[in-house]
Amino acid sequence: MGKGGGMATTAEFPALPGDAPAPAGDARDRKPYVVIGGGPAGLTAGYLLAKAGRRVIVFEADEQVGGLAKTVVDADGYRFDLGGHRFFTKATEVNDLWLEIMGDEFLMRPRMSRIFWNGKYLDYPLKGTDVIKKLGPVELFCPACRTCGRR
Ligand SMILES: Cc1cc2nc3c(=O)[nH]c(=O)nc-3n(C[C@H](O)[C@H](O)[C@H](O)COP(=O)(O)OP(=O)(O)OC[C@H]3O[C@@H](n4cnc5c(N)ncnc54)[C@H](O)[C@@H]3O)c2cc1C
Repeated sequence: MGKGGGMATTAEFPALPGDAPAPAGDARDRKPYVVIGGGPAGLTAGYLLAKAGRRVIVFEADEQVGGLAKTVVDADGYRFDLGGHRFFTKATEVNDLWLEIMGDEFLMRPRMSRIFWNGKYLDYPLKGTDVIKKLGPVELFCPACRTCGRR
């Protein structure tokens, strides 16, 4: 899909089968849609446009697509995510899209994340009751306490 050209990459999505092509004679048939940036947003836009029967070209400034969510490979062949990424959404249509793309490769994992703040572990994503209980009203509402790290 990707074509390296110096430091830049283009990803050309052909129209995908199973979706209605653009109506014949439609100007959108002749000119490709252009997406700037091959991060998750740009690749999703490209994918959905291709599914809608449009020709799409995604321009990526880097030599690899993926944006902040990309996996890089070091000289020894080890693979690293730029940030430890996991996927979570409450939006059914977003979840369905991921399942559609990933199929059997979509791995479900229970996971707990917490923020270590002034000696306390706060649940992440933040929960109002947990934050109030652990920080208390003084630390929660006093900006000076937050910046001076009052203990
Ligand atoms: C450490 C870290 C951990 C994260 N963890 C999570 C997580 O667990 N779960 C989660 O959902 N999200 C996580 N995120 C956030 C997630 O990575 C971003 O929300 C997501 O990458 C945003 O996608 P994007 O396509 O909007 O932008 P980006 O990922 O920033 O992609 C933009 C792309 O556009 C390219 N570009 C920019 N300008 C041009 C140009 N002029 N021409 C061509 N190309 C251009 C860039 O090179 C880049 O590839 C994390 C982010 C970081 C940094």
